Amino acid sequence: MPPVLTGRPPARIMDIVDLVEEYAPGGTDLLMRAYIFTAKVHRGQSRISGEPYISHPLEVGRILAEMRQDPETVAAGLLHDTVEDTSASLEEIQTLFGEHVASLVNGVTKLARIDLPNTQALEAENYRKMLIAMAHDIRVILIKLADRLHNALTLEYLPPKRRERIAQETAEIYAPLANRLGIGWLKGALEDIAFKHLHPQEYNEIDEKLREGMAEREAYLMEIKQTVEESLAKAGIQAAVTARFKLHSSIHRKMQTQNLDFHQVYDISGLRIIVGEIRDCYAVLGILHSLWRPIPGRFKDYVALPKANLYQSLHTTLMATQGQRVEFQIRTKEMHRVAEEGIAAHWRYKEGERVDSGVADKFEWLRRIMESLQEETDPRNLVDSFKLNLFQDEVFVFTPRGEVRNFPRGATPVDFAYSIHTEVGHHCVGAKINGRIAPLSTRLENGDIVEILTNPHRTPTQDWLKFVVSARAKQKIRAWIRQAQRDRSITLGRELLEHELARFGVKPAEYLTPGSLTEAARGLGIQSEEDLFAMVGFGRLSARQVAGKVLPEELLRQTEKREKSRFRRLMARMSGKAKPGIKVKGQDDILIRFAKCCDPIPGEPIVGFITRGRGVTVHAESCANVRPIMSEEERLVEVSWGDVKKEDLYVVTLAVDAVDRPGVLAGLSSAIASCQSNIVRITAESARARAGIHLDVQVRDLEHLKEVMKKVRDVKGILSVVRTGPRMPREGVREHSEGE
Ligand code: MN
Repeated sequence: MPPVLTGRPPARIMDIVDLVEEYAPGGTDLLMRAYIFTAKVHRGQSRISGEPYISHPLEVGRILAEMRQDPETVAAGLLHDTVEDTSASLEEIQTLFGEHVASLVNGVTKLARIDLPNTQALEAENYRKMLIAMAHDIRVILIKLADRLHNALTLEYLPPKRRERIAQETAEIYAPLANRLGIGWLKGALEDIAFKHLHPQEYNEIDEKLREGMAEREAYLMEIKQTVEESLAKAGIQAAVTARFKLHSSIHRKMQTQNLDFHQVYDISGLRIIVGEIRDCYAVLGILHSLWRPIPGRFKDYVALPKANLYQSLHTTLMATQGQRVEFQIRTKEMHRVAEEGIAAHWRYKEGERVDSGVADKFEWLRRIMESLQEETDPRNLVDSFKLNLFQDEVFVFTPRGEVRNFPRGATPVDFAYSIHTEVGHHCVGAKINGRIAPLSTRLENGDIVEILTNPHRTPTQDWLKFVVSARAKQKIRAWIRQAQRDRSITLGRELLEHELARFGVKPAEYLTPGSLTEAARGLGIQSEEDLFAMVGFGRLSARQVAGKVLPEELLRQTEKREKSRFRRLMARMSGKAKPGIKVKGQDDILIRFAKCCDPIPGEPIVGFITRGRGVTVHAESCANVRPIMSEEERLVEVSWGDVKKEDLYVVTLAVDAVDRPGVLAGLSSAIASCQSNIVRITAESARARAGIHLDVQVRDLEHLKEVMKKVRDVKGILSVVRTGPRMPREGVREHSEGE
């Protein structure tokens, strides 16, 4: 049974020894020695409440004994603050109490820093410590939770600011953690204390209202209870029926999330029926449903589908006498024990054996979360994943073979695919949910049967990160993208280098030999040839810098001179017409060409492709020639419009369909002039009272083009306006050399 926490006498060592002796005879010596040591090193210290400090480790020890933890864990509970707060050392603990106790104390000591004020990185580090501690020995977390429980129970002695911070942390981290570990009573206790300190006014209001109706509610429940007991007895089912009252914090949460008034929360109280066997659960359910009408949608079968924290129970709400709703929970004794004690039940001391060895399987989810999180290196991702995975509700789905898998709520087929195998995740293209084809971003619902469709040619995309929720899927997708980006950078880097060398009039192959490249890399402080290409591809190193390392100095000087004059000539020829402001991601010094097929203008979505020896070709994203190359992902580079000079103008061609009548052309030209655009060329042909007009006009960017087209469309007699492919050839290659 969970301990009654309020109004009890202070813990004394003999109470703890007696408790432990009951379930683990022979622990007395260890506990007495731990107590004497703790009392000695904490001597002279006191808590803010004024009590001697030793009262705190004693309370923590008592809570652990009440959770029937093994003597070593209880001893570690008594010793938990000695290394952190006194002159005692871990070596001393190890010599006096052995390796196990020392490692538990060490774990708790490391976690002690979790109470520091948080910066994000620090917070992430705390989570990491918590995970490592859990992976190492879950008992460390049990001690930490007992420690937190006693600290929370004595919060009123703290100054308001600290009190609020600890209450907040209790609500946000420790209560959800207790819940995830399935320790129902502890979760409830932590949550309620935190609520009381964070929202004292709401707490008191709820408290008052609860008191008001308490006698009446109890009487009503007793009446229902009696009816139930009689019916169960008639059916020959042995059961214990007890009344259950919702905690203040749960009532408050329900009022908040469902926007209810206090009196609309119908399950403030309910009945719990505890039976011997699983089949009795369903028999009881049948009897209840024949007594009163069940409320549709309120039946939940956590017996067949346990929660990830192993909670099992049947829940149903009935319209009982006087039209009042009563919620029932039906479970076996064993299920009840697990609901209250959760993971602690598996770690509790059993005579003759140490801890339950099958526990790792039962808490498989915990292991999986920890594994995937330990691979996560970005602190911000770590914190998000940790919170999401540990604290969110979960959803249960089935494999086609009927195995249950659970995920955080909001999980998609991609999360599911990665839970099966990394390769299945990487190549998934769709899913069958309950036999129907569904997109990868579909949110899975409880009970869905999910089958993954794969295609070896498909690979993860950045978009997946927008909808996956499991830590594992996120981490695997990020890793894949990082690798793909690296591969692409290596290809791009190689192309850029080849192009650069060609500019010096040499055959790239002669200089890009493994030997010279390795030497160049070393000269630049880079590990390998591949890294060198990648650095160039990522734009962290210019191709010119690398060329400078592999080419003879004489050649470098000559070429530079020649290029400078050629560049000046080119600029002169372009007669002030500036180079287009295109930015290739991570690259400043790069050759850009516009594809002749689509001739994009600023503002239009664009993509870049690496072309062998010719740098990057820029297409409009909508260009028909883009689609076939799109699949060659390693050639794709991200490009964007950089700073575009306002005075730059681009020629686009418009095809206008008009009624053939006088004044149409005049209307067109004045419309175009009215938005500061010029007509460069115009051709028109007419047939059967219709005129087909082609206009080449100058615009600044996409916005400007839209404005022009709108004005043209408004001209009287104009039937339609579309933009067509360019009819005027653009000037050829343009040098883009901001980096020089
Ligand atoms: Mn403590």
